[in-house]
Amino acid sequence: MIPPPLPASADSRREVRISAPRFDGNESKYVQECIDSTWVSSIGRFIALFEEGFARFCDVPHAVAANNGTSALHLALLGCGVRPGDEVIVPTLTFVASANAVAYCGAKPVFVDSEPRTMNLDPALIEARITPKTRGIIVVHLYGHPADMDPILAIARRHNLFVVEDAAEAHGARYRGQIVGGLGDVGTFSFFGNKIITTGEGGMVTVHDAAKAALIRTFRGQGMQTDRRYWFPVIGYNYRMTNIQAALGLAQLEQIERYMAHHRTVASWYAHYLSPIADMVALPIEEPWCRHAYWLYTVILNDAVAVDRDALMADLAAVGIETRPVFYPMHVLPPYFEADAHYPVADRLSARGISLPTHIGLTEADVAYVAGHLTRLCSL
Ligand SMILES: *Cc1c(COP(=O)(O)O)cnc(C)c1O
Repeated sequence: MIPPPLPASADSRREVRISAPRFDGNESKYVQECIDSTWVSSIGRFIALFEEGFARFCDVPHAVAANNGTSALHLALLGCGVRPGDEVIVPTLTFVASANAVAYCGAKPVFVDSEPRTMNLDPALIEARITPKTRGIIVVHLYGHPADMDPILAIARRHNLFVVEDAAEAHGARYRGQIVGGLGDVGTFSFFGNKIITTGEGGMVTVHDAAKAALIRTFRGQGMQTDRRYWFPVIGYNYRMTNIQAALGLAQLEQIERYMAHHRTVASWYAHYLSPIADMVALPIEEPWCRHAYWLYTVILNDAVAVDRDALMADLAAVGIETRPVFYPMHVLPPYFEADAHYPVADRLSARGISLPTHIGLTEADVAYVAGHLTRLCSL
């Protein structure tokens, strides 16, 4: 039996949360400015500052802030012209928002299985799912590992499809040196409280094309024509971000390099402390062509390990460690259920995957504590 790296004794019990935001920069100062100036709604200087700063961060000419990451996805699809009856390719293993945004457009998400190494959609399986109704592909950089964009972009070019990157979980990740969110036609981000940077609730659309960015702004603001007040050529939405959210976002963006670096440090601690049980749990990999954001450090229990995943999570919770299961794949959820589904890789990852605590406040001792208990429970 392999000895646990740092056996945690009962008296060293800790509470380790899976995610936790941190506000130790200019957050209070900027939010206070919103209150003092009374600019608390969706007009105010922080919105443009956050949009411009985020566009620079993603190396794209335009960024449009939204009230959350799901509306950012919906806006991205509207900006790409998705219409009722269209089909959009989506990985089955994702957070439900990626599929829901397609449904909001009256279009149909068509699912693709994952490839086992990175858990992202498998480029080799995309073309078989393309029909005359297919308009585009949503790529999700799951848990922070970039999808393999080159073959996906080549397929998109060949079939004249748009590519939307759902980078909600991958702030600052890179694919062949290029930052995610700027690799496809449009990128989207979430700033929910558990993401790498947060605005409480919030999102962003990153765009290359100026006309597309203008269209997305129109849809965000009820569909109002920008040069004609109260004239609405299209049915739009109120998906605006508030100045308060943007104030938080700008302060968080000022810290993002430090946050990103800490996520990678946490991952290196896990890799070290979990290396003795690498034959029992598959640790996340980082393909040589990318920089993983390690939003969450997600491990997959090998089939040979007899432990039940959910029982293991309950045992970890009992010692103060918060974890979460990998998402259910879309094809098992009632709105998207497929009776004849065949997505074996996503099914296995979903059933055997656990995301471990990964956030800016974690110390090496926290990680050793989690790894120690995971090792003990896997070795029983
Ligand atoms: C968090 C998340 C979203 C949506 O984010 P909200 O801001 O909560 O609406 C979309 N896609 C993925 C993959 C996510 O993880």
